[in-house]
Amino acid sequence: MSLTVVGTMAFDEIETPFGKSGRIIGGSATYIAWAASNFVTPINQVSVIGGDFPESELAALKAKGVAMDGVQVKKDEKTFYWSGKYHMDMNTRDSLATDLNVLADFQPVIPESYQGSEFLILGNLTPQVQMSVIDQLKERPKLIVMDTMNFWMEVALDDLLKVLKRVDVLMVNDSEARQLSGEYSLVKAARKILTMGPRYLIIKKGEHGALLFHENHVFFAPAMPLDDVFDPTGAGDTFAGGFIGYLAKTRDISFENMKTAIIVGSAMASFCVEQFGTGRIREVSKEEIHSRIDQFVQLVNFDIDLV
Ligand code: AMP
Repeated sequence: MSLTVVGTMAFDEIETPFGKSGRIIGGSATYIAWAASNFVTPINQVSVIGGDFPESELAALKAKGVAMDGVQVKKDEKTFYWSGKYHMDMNTRDSLATDLNVLADFQPVIPESYQGSEFLILGNLTPQVQMSVIDQLKERPKLIVMDTMNFWMEVALDDLLKVLKRVDVLMVNDSEARQLSGEYSLVKAARKILTMGPRYLIIKKGEHGALLFHENHVFFAPAMPLDDVFDPTGAGDTFAGGFIGYLAKTRDISFENMKTAIIVGSAMASFCVEQFGTGRIREVSKEEIHSRIDQFVQLVNFDIDLV
């Protein structure tokens, strides 16, 4: 069993009401790989970085079972850079800068060693790159999950709609679901998006949890109520990594198992927000993960006697 992860490996600069991060490591594929590697290895990473990306970061991920054969290094260019600012409401943020740099003309090449991967997650990046990866796989994976964001809906909607037709699960946040569907009601938005290609839709609502839609079924997972949310950056990707990591580990892609996978994703995301960047998820232990998942079970567990 193996998992292929496509996405950005980045430098981020984040400002929250609690402080500034300075330049730190981020990127959708970075967060996904850190989260998923707690459940499944090897992870086949597909991304692109510049000569300025630290060797030590690649080494740390490799030590967690993440293969880097599909990560292109463009020595003379700069790594993708993103900066964002959160206000008091940490569910919304402003992107201050998105410098594509190496991402602008990235043509992914899937190494032979990645072929036959059963699970594929297309993390947030250029839809054209997401499509190219699907096209290069000789055998269709058992499950293809796709994440995206408003930025790509604005600059590459046609390509994004084409990728949507090829995937099983789409993950977006609530405002992106509204933007993509043109519907305010999330139920109506989901119904519309489920006609665009994916059979499953996950709508993330930040500290208000996540919804899973499939045919006429809906499942809701709360987010862990935490004392402090320090930095929400990467929470969506960490959620995605926990979700697909758990599905790949159990090799069960039923709706029932996806419910559990969403709880696992929510538990992983709850660690991510406790520190800036990847600080917390790179050191979290198996015991801490298990105990957080237990807390989730307690959070939603209740008895009822209908009179
Ligand atoms: P999340 O908070 O889960 O949405 O993910 C935040 C991460 O996404 C950051 O580490 C950024 O480097 C990365 N990111 C921000 N904008 C983009 C974009 N347009 N495409 C791909 N990755 C992005």
